[in-house]
Amino acid sequence: MGFSNAVKKEALFESKRSCCLCHTFCGRDVDVHHIKHQNEGGGDDLQNAVVLCFDCHSESGHYNQKHPKGNKYSPEELKKFRDEWWVWCKDHPYAQPPKIPISLSPNTFSFDSGAYLGIYVLHVQNKTQNIYYQTWIKISFDVQRIEPLERFSFTFIDDRNVHHLRVGSKVIAENKYMTAEDSTGKTVVFLLIEILKPNEIFDVRIEEIKRSFEENPPINLFCDVVSFSETPSKFISNPSGKTGSSITPPEAIRLKTIRIFSDNSE
Ligand SMILES: [Zn+2]
Repeated sequence: MGFSNAVKKEALFESKRSCCLCHTFCGRDVDVHHIKHQNEGGGDDLQNAVVLCFDCHSESGHYNQKHPKGNKYSPEELKKFRDEWWVWCKDHPYAQPPKIPISLSPNTFSFDSGAYLGIYVLHVQNKTQNIYYQTWIKISFDVQRIEPLERFSFTFIDDRNVHHLRVGSKVIAENKYMTAEDSTGKTVVFLLIEILKPNEIFDVRIEEIKRSFEENPPINLFCDVVSFSETPSKFISNPSGKTGSSITPPEAIRLKTIRIFSDNSE
């Protein structure tokens, strides 16, 4: 046996997809491991699950109590680090994990109810020499009942053709944004950036397009990277307007409904 998908999802969610030991954000390149090994009687429940990066897994995976060597992590230590990390994640629902290769700046935007409509730019920066595929950015709001696309527009700035995956002249994947309802019923927006090249800064303009003073109170937007991958997805999303257009959100994202909008700046 192994962990069920439900247990894996829960562990990834509780950990913000970050390693419970080194706190490195792993995106889609992550797995859920047993704290106490199965052949030592460890169960497949959430209490025995820990999210580890590949490096830390090799530091903990082969701990042998009978012949302890070096400084491998014991199940007790793993559990302690796991619990502490989950508490931090719970206490910081809008914070990005501290060690994330893709930075968002700023990651909070405040739209007041003053006379002018607000315009901000979100800088999405790949801080590494790696290429990242399918970066999912979640934008949530501190006002409960909001129809985001009635009040805000999201534009991918400098959306050069290099950001579109092409076969010949055919675009087979492109940047998208979408509104969705998460598992708690809150409306959120996702930005999906297909490719982030090494050290690239990719800008997204967040613009208030409409506001009526009674109905639209001051509002804060919180941005988080929720997923990315070092390998291109086997699934290639279709461009807008084509039949069969669909999308597969990463496992850590729990959605009830989803509405997809392709970037049409071309
Ligand atoms: Zn780690």
